[in-house]
This record gives sequence, C-alpha cells and structure tokens, in this order.
Amino acid sequence: MRRLTLLILTIVAATSVLGPNAQAAGKLKVVATISDLKSLTETIGGDLVEVDSLTRGTQNLHEAEVRPSMMLKLRRADAVVENGLGLDAWADVAIEAANNANIIRGGRGRIDISRNVEVLEVPGSRVDRSMGDVHPQGNPHFSLDPGLAPVITQNIVEGLARVAPDRRAVFEQNRQAFLARLEQEMVKWTQAMAPVKGAKVVVFHPVYVYFLTRFGLVQAAALEDRPGIPPSPQHLATVIREMKAQKIKAILVEPWNDVKLANRVAEEAGARALVMATAVGAVKGADNYIAAIDYNITALAKALR
Ligand SMILES: [Zn+2]
Repeated sequence: MRRLTLLILTIVAATSVLGPNAQAAGKLKVVATISDLKSLTETIGGDLVEVDSLTRGTQNLHEAEVRPSMMLKLRRADAVVENGLGLDAWADVAIEAANNANIIRGGRGRIDISRNVEVLEVPGSRVDRSMGDVHPQGNPHFSLDPGLAPVITQNIVEGLARVAPDRRAVFEQNRQAFLARLEQEMVKWTQAMAPVKGAKVVVFHPVYVYFLTRFGLVQAAALEDRPGIPPSPQHLATVIREMKAQKIKAILVEPWNDVKLANRVAEEAGARALVMATAVGAVKGADNYIAAIDYNITALAKALR
C-alpha cells in the first residue's frame, strides 16, 4: 500500500513537472515573491495568468518565513517572479524544496525582475554580511520606483513569453497599455512633487531611495545604524541633531517597523513620521501598483509642503 502511494505521488510529481505545455490547459500559474510583482504580473498577464504572492505587503520582505503553503503553490507553478538582489533570498529555500523544474534557477519559468536595473547604494568592498547588513548586493527596494516599471515589466514579458511563447503579443500589448497609463500618472506625480523638489527626508529602513531619487528628494539619514541593524541611542541622537539643524520635516517608516520609535524621534526633532506604502497592500488604499505609488506621492507632497 505504502509503495503504491509512493508510486502515485511520483507519477503526480512527474506529470506536473514534465507534463505537456501547462498553459494549454488554462491560465498560467504564476507565483510572485512579493505583492508589487503580483500586481505587475497581473497587469501584464491579464486573463492569461493566475498570480499568487508568497508575502503580504504589510510584512518585512527581508524575513519571510518559509511555510508548507509556499511549497504547495510553488510545486504547481509555471513561473516564479522574484525581486532579486537578495531581498527574497528566502524564496530560494522554498523553491528548492518544491522540486519543480520550471522554476529552478536557470529554468525557463524563473523570472528575476532586477535584470538591467541600475542598482543604488552598492556597498564598497569592505562590507561583510556577518556585520548584519541586509543589503549586501546594493539596495533591493526598487520595485515601487515608477521610473523602473518599464524595465521591470519588460523582464516580466520576457519571462512569461519564455513559458508561453504563443502569448507574447498579448503580454506586450498589455505592457504598452500599462506604460501609457503610467506615463499619464507620472506627469501628475511629477507636478505634485515639483514644489518639494530638493527636500531632505529621514528614513527608518532604506526602502525609498529609488523612489526619492526619481522625484528629486534626498535621503539625508536612516534611523537604522546600517540596513537591518536596529537604531542605537547614539546614532538616534546624531540623527535628531541633524534633523533639527537641517529642518527636516519627515521620517518615512514601514508599517512593519517600529512606528512608535519613529514617532518619538519625529516629535523630538519637530518632524512627522509617515507610514508609507512600502509595497502593494502595505497600507489601506494601496491595492495595486499605481495606487501604492499614488499613496506615497500624496503623503510626501502633503507632509513636505
Ligand atoms: Zn531592505
């Protein structure tokens, strides 16, 4: 009996991995590691895809816990869309355990959206992961920079088209429609940010550097001593002093981080802490890619005026 069960399991596993073009049976099953990529993949794939995210926007994306439910999703996936640059390194563990040839590194369904992204905050040669830095390959939080959406969606189109070559035209068409809409929004966002251009802000964890740079804002300091290292009292004292001296009005904080601490620091420095849409779904109203960016633009334009 046990042998038979094992045999059946083996057959099921073999057909799901080696079976005929999965897309012929219906929608492509795509798993995104983070919610931003779920939203963008849905936009590109439209009716042709069914997308699941392994994390929610409200959580620290560096530290997702690998669960059996992740493995189940990954086992039957035609493609995985990952952020790369080490942000979702935890997904490697789950993907390996899922034992699905489509999505192993080098597999045609493995889609890394950091390809061709110009990486910011690349550390010098002295960085040592044992020091606890969670950005050893540079800053991985680029997905909510709308100026990078053309590159990201190009990577998604290429990846989906590898899995379903006969649908490439549809993916490309959906991408063009999205980019046209994004361009309109970009005009609006640029106008909204124009009056506060050049303003300095402090961040808790450096999630926003691509976004800030895009709109001409300056990240003056981070509350963390280094990415992923909690703030020390000495460091906070320095930041508060700097904030007062430079009249910095805002601290940007992630919903999953120590918002109370950010509030305390802001109060001492005569500033405000803003809880940001650090990912799609991180805050109320940030339900899709464009809505999340819109939320951040609105919050910053208002606070920095
Ligand atoms: Zn980070």
